[in-house]
Amino acid sequence: MSVERTLAIIKPDAVTAGAAGKILSRIEQAGFKVVALKMIQMSFDDAAGFYAVHRERPFFKSLCTFMTQGPCIPMVLEADDAIQRWRDLMGATDPVKAAAGTIRKDFATSIEANAVHGSDAAATAAFEIGYFFSSLELCGR
Ligand code: GDP
Repeated sequence: MSVERTLAIIKPDAVTAGAAGKILSRIEQAGFKVVALKMIQMSFDDAAGFYAVHRERPFFKSLCTFMTQGPCIPMVLEADDAIQRWRDLMGATDPVKAAAGTIRKDFATSIEANAVHGSDAAATAAFEIGYFFSSLELCGR
């Protein structure tokens, strides 16, 4: 097991619902170090660039529109095995299928408005962290 960094986003549905603090608290309680964090409002093109791997999927436009409907909170999490551990804490994409105790089970309202994002592999994490943060914004602790 090695120390990894992963990109997490508290999505607009969760920010608008006032759940950001509760989600951040779960992240800290699970032992992740938050090494970067900011609140932004994405344009459609910002979201389309971020989700470019999904551009052929039928829900692409809807997903990009959803991600622009309000502010979101991207952050970089650091921990041993952070990529898989954050995905485990998020839960399944579809909240109906998410396990009890996961963030999506407790805060997501649909397969699209599912509260949080997490990188799915090391290469994806490197791209996604660089999409939102410069090296100067990453606080090693
Ligand atoms: P994730 O890794 O669990 O976030 O899931 P994916 O990478 O497969 O999908 C990216 C995001 O697209 C998800 O988190 C959802 O917000 C959205 N999404 C995934 N599947 C669907 C779908 O079938 N319909 C819609 N409308 N959105 C979806």
